[in-house]
Amino acid sequence: VRALVFDGRLRLERDRPAPTPAEGEALIRVLAAGICNTDLEITKGYMGFAGVLGHEFVGVVEQSPDGNWDGKRVVGEINCACESCEWCRRGLLNHCPNRTVLGIVGRDGAFAEYVTLPVGNLHEVPPTVSDTQAVFVEPLAAAYEILEQVTVRRDDRVVVLGDGKLGLLAAQVLADAGAECCLVGRHASKLELAQSLGLCVSEAAEIAEKSRGLVVDCTGSTEGLRQAMRLVEPRGTIVLKSTVAGDDGPNLTPVVVDEVTVVGSRCGPFAPAIAALAEGRVRVEELVAAAYGLDDGLEAMAAAAEPGALKVVLQITV
Ligand SMILES: [Zn+2]
Ligand SMILES: [Zn+2]
Repeated sequence: VRALVFDGRLRLERDRPAPTPAEGEALIRVLAAGICNTDLEITKGYMGFAGVLGHEFVGVVEQSPDGNWDGKRVVGEINCACESCEWCRRGLLNHCPNRTVLGIVGRDGAFAEYVTLPVGNLHEVPPTVSDTQAVFVEPLAAAYEILEQVTVRRDDRVVVLGDGKLGLLAAQVLADAGAECCLVGRHASKLELAQSLGLCVSEAAEIAEKSRGLVVDCTGSTEGLRQAMRLVEPRGTIVLKSTVAGDDGPNLTPVVVDEVTVVGSRCGPFAPAIAALAEGRVRVEELVAAAYGLDDGLEAMAAAAEPGALKVVLQITV
């Protein structure tokens, strides 16, 4: 089968053996997949991963234990836990130290014609959600993780820092939850897009110091955390949604003085993400920069790496 593989070098393989589902796993024909910043980081050596890239996908199950999932259109959670360790017993499967992660840690990903996942990771996609929308379920679930971790009440004053893909999703989720949410970014075109999605946008300098109960940092830069510490009010919360490379972290004294809670936030629940897409409460099709066939996968990865690029989608099979 065709697959976009990284093993120190990014390349399109045309005759890779189809994956064989392990016990409890389904074999899924991939319809479409999304290129994430993590995929780009992996091609720079992040996580030391070698194999098929890709963790944001929608596909059709071709083979499943007992056939229960056969023919269903699905998306899949990316963490595959051991289900027997201390963390798994506590229900924290996403933190299982023995886990594999689709296209990121020890498990071939979805930039291929076929992928396998445990059936417990699968979620059926309702017919009202298009393939392109479904590709956004995984990153949108990561945005919904904020609501799992922090209580957001109607009219809470929230700032999202960063107008990239995740910032545009997180701001929509928070606005839909009833927060008075403002998106801060640097790219005029993306701020315009945010406004067309009904979001309030602002310059960081226009927001009063220590005026927001919740600040969500989606910038992926140390400057984002610095900015967040400036805007968060005493006893407020900062949610960090993106990893920052490098170790030139800011001085954390304001976190102590203002008794700020800092919350790290990663993968999230799929069900509310699917529901929001099905009900049109979050818009994602506007976030698609371009779509490519898998044969043009290298070109697609290059397009995704353009500074400020929105979501690049791979159309893999029909
Ligand atoms: Zn991702
Ligand atoms: Zn475990």
